[in-house]
This record gives sequence, C-alpha cells and structure tokens, in this order.
Amino acid sequence: MRRLEARRARLLISAQTAQAAAVRGLVSVLVREWLWWCRGGSLGVARTAFDGRAACARRAYSDSATMGHVQVVDGLDHEKYMRLAIDAARKSSLEEKNGGPFGAAVVNVSTGAVVALAANSVLATRDPTAHGEVNAIRMACKNINSHVLTGHVIYTTGEPCPMCYAACWWARLDTIYYAGSIADALEYGRFDDAPIYHAVRQPDPAQRPLPCHQLCQAEMLELWKEYQASEHTWY
Ligand SMILES: [Zn+2]
Repeated sequence: MRRLEARRARLLISAQTAQAAAVRGLVSVLVREWLWWCRGGSLGVARTAFDGRAACARRAYSDSATMGHVQVVDGLDHEKYMRLAIDAARKSSLEEKNGGPFGAAVVNVSTGAVVALAANSVLATRDPTAHGEVNAIRMACKNINSHVLTGHVIYTTGEPCPMCYAACWWARLDTIYYAGSIADALEYGRFDDAPIYHAVRQPDPAQRPLPCHQLCQAEMLELWKEYQASEHTWY
C-alpha cells in the first residue's frame, strides 16, 4: 500500500514537473517574442525580417540558373533599377577604373526610392571588401540611419559572392536581383567565386582551403558570458 502511494506521489511530482516545464517553455517563448519585438521596433517589422531571412534561405537552395529570371511581384520596375546598377558599374569600372564592373542599387519596396547606388571600388580604395553590394549596403544604411534594410531590395550587376550574399543576409534585405551570373564573372573577368562557395560548405573549418584554427575558446567564453549578462542592443 505504501509503495503504491509512493508511486502515486512520484507520478504527481513528475506531472507537476512537466507542467512547470511547459509553463517555463511558454514564458521563454513569450520573452523571446517580446525581445524580438523590442529589437525590431514592432512585431510587423520583426516578422518581416524573419520572413525575409526565410525567403533568403529558400533562395539559397534554389537553382541559381533560374534565379536570373525574375518575376515582377511587387510592382517595382526591376529592369529600370538594374539598369541604374549597370550604368554605375560601367562608369566606375571603365571610366574611373575603380574596380570590376559591379554596381548595386538598394531600393525601398514601398516607395520605389533608390536609397543607395554604388559600385565596386576595390582598386580605388585598396579595400578587398569594397564590392558593389557591400558599398551599396553601407551607403543605404547610412542614408536611412539604420542597420536593418528590411523593406528594401538590392539590384546587383553580378550574382553575389559569398561575402556579399552574407552582407545582404545580415542587412535583412528582402530580395536580391542580379544580372550577370558567377559563371559570367569568371569567363569575362576572372573573378572566381565558386571555390569560396565550395569552401564554406566544408563542415570542418580546419579542412577549408583557407584554414581556420580555433584557440582561446575558454577565454572568449568569459567575454561571451559578460556580454550576455550586460545591457546591450540586440541585433
Ligand atoms: Zn561580393
């Protein structure tokens, strides 16, 4: 009899534990949603950012050959904006000799306003990261005074390299439209992005062509914990 009661008590405790875990889970989701809301300024903005990332993720898995055929879905005159990017690339590469023929325009989807128009300036600025998309993203963020470009799309004369694709991702752009393919850049300009895409797919960082070796993780974790506990802006 006592054994049965003890078993019942154990079951009750385990049910209460499960209930408490469920409540904790719900609270954690609500807190996360609240933090997400605070970061985005409004739930709508945050959700759009999330949807934008999901759309980007879907696009990352699409066949790049089909990505060149853009469908007009939002009323923007895509070709008009792409021509602006091509003109910027032509002027910068052929006349000013700033770098390769890569230009990019960032456009507000709601208003159609061009918030940035830039081109590759790797040679002019001696900056290997000064690709057209990165320059345009930096300019756009400065112009709208925000590090988030949700609600904007980018038109780039070339299919983004991994760095620029990641920059578009981090900027939370809605969509990437591009003209020339990675294969075109290789054929006509000797710009070879394929090995970089291949390298980042290698799961073991140490095995990548440009090796990555981890060290001082314990010390770094101390900083992470201090950061986690500190007051800071989530982004
Ligand atoms: Zn790039």
